[in-house]
Amino acid sequence: MIHMLIDSCAHAAKLSSRAMEQPLTPAERIRLKLHLMMCKRCSNFSRQIEFLRRASGKMPEIFEKDED
Ligand SMILES: [Zn+2]
Repeated sequence: MIHMLIDSCAHAAKLSSRAMEQPLTPAERIRLKLHLMMCKRCSNFSRQIEFLRRASGKMPEIFEKDED
């Protein structure tokens, strides 16, 4: 039963990557979260994505301030 809710690692990685560019739907977020809870590999991958997103998210801000 619960297996129907759990995505493949490939799908989880895809959702993690897409979350960088656009917000996921609530259903997608729940599915991703469920997968990350059970899959250490994707959990680590998701943390790296999150780190990269924060790091890259700061770059435009720095450049804009530089131009001023
Ligand atoms: Zn996985």
